[in-house]
Amino acid sequence: MIMKYYIKTFGCQQNVSDSQRIRSAFSAREMEETDDYRDADYVMINTCMVRQSAENRIAGLVNNLAKIKALKRKKKQILKIIVTGCMVGLAKRDTSGKYSKIMHERLPEVDEFVPIEEFGYDLSPVRSDTKNAWLPISNGCNNFCSYCTVPYSRGEEISRPYEDIVKEALKLKREGYTHITLLGQNVNSYGSDLIQKGSYPDIKPVFVKHLGKKRIPTLFPFLLSEIAQMGFESVNFMSSNPWDFSEALINVIARHKNITRVIHLPVQSGDSNVLKRMNRWYTDQEYLQLVSNIRREIPDAKFTTDIVVGFCGETDEEFNNTVRLCKKVKFQKAYISMYSPRYGTTAYKTIKDDIAYIVKKKRWCILENLINKPNLKKAV
Ligand code: SF4
Repeated sequence: MIMKYYIKTFGCQQNVSDSQRIRSAFSAREMEETDDYRDADYVMINTCMVRQSAENRIAGLVNNLAKIKALKRKKKQILKIIVTGCMVGLAKRDTSGKYSKIMHERLPEVDEFVPIEEFGYDLSPVRSDTKNAWLPISNGCNNFCSYCTVPYSRGEEISRPYEDIVKEALKLKREGYTHITLLGQNVNSYGSDLIQKGSYPDIKPVFVKHLGKKRIPTLFPFLLSEIAQMGFESVNFMSSNPWDFSEALINVIARHKNITRVIHLPVQSGDSNVLKRMNRWYTDQEYLQLVSNIRREIPDAKFTTDIVVGFCGETDEEFNNTVRLCKKVKFQKAYISMYSPRYGTTAYKTIKDDIAYIVKKKRWCILENLINKPNLKKAV
């Protein structure tokens, strides 16, 4: 009898892309995918913990699966629940063991916790879309924004070898993919670790601003330019960080018409004091200057962004500065979230989550009405 598996992916495109490699691991064992978890013998949950709501939904799903598992057990059938992704990553890296305990207590019916690293990059992703391909170029993050769990859940930034990415992109082109998206928590700093290890002495790196003081070398403009010349109809990338979006990168985008003109540039807040508390290394003015530099070279550039409202201590005036910045940039879309403390982060450990839910919700609505609602109407 052929075993069936079901994969549930929470969170960002990086997780979606990771799940494509997980699918490959199941297929290699000659298992069949099902889109109904009640039919599955194995359920893999690829977790996200960017927000508390995602963790709550994961716990709810495991709870439902536990009931199905009990029914199946009575019929002498199996249901294995396996969990991977950010929750397992954080549990592995939290040396105090506290998060592992929390995770096991919240998800008692899980049979196995597998770190995502175990799937590696040797597996060819099984993509369901035949035109659009996600191509991961790096994993992890070294930036430690004070509210963000990624540096803990995914670990330090590790870039995939340049040649491997180029090879995979060429293969995608041969297979008929027309749209490609390069993925990483911070694509701009791609290759920084490889250069520091001395892996690419022949490529002259581009130096970008980092930490507001130091400069780090990166290979991203070279990689993006090389992939843009392969003949894809469109080349996208996400996510970028404002503080290391270099002039060289702007020039590469300007030169290649098939590179996206919709640039995702997370601002998170439009107030310099909040940005400082978030450990984001730019001011509101530097962000606006970057937007203007990009528009100067790429006049048809449009911007999307991420914003966190109600971050610790955010005053009305600080929030109003975010509203002002949004009005100036005229974002095409914003992914707006209400701050919730994430285990292990600096904000979780050191700053009080002191903004009432009702205030967060009001601020969320103001930005949603300002940015997303009018754009939604235009699109209809
Ligand atoms: S840059 Fe900041 S928000 Fe983005 S993944 Fe890294 S720590 Fe998180």
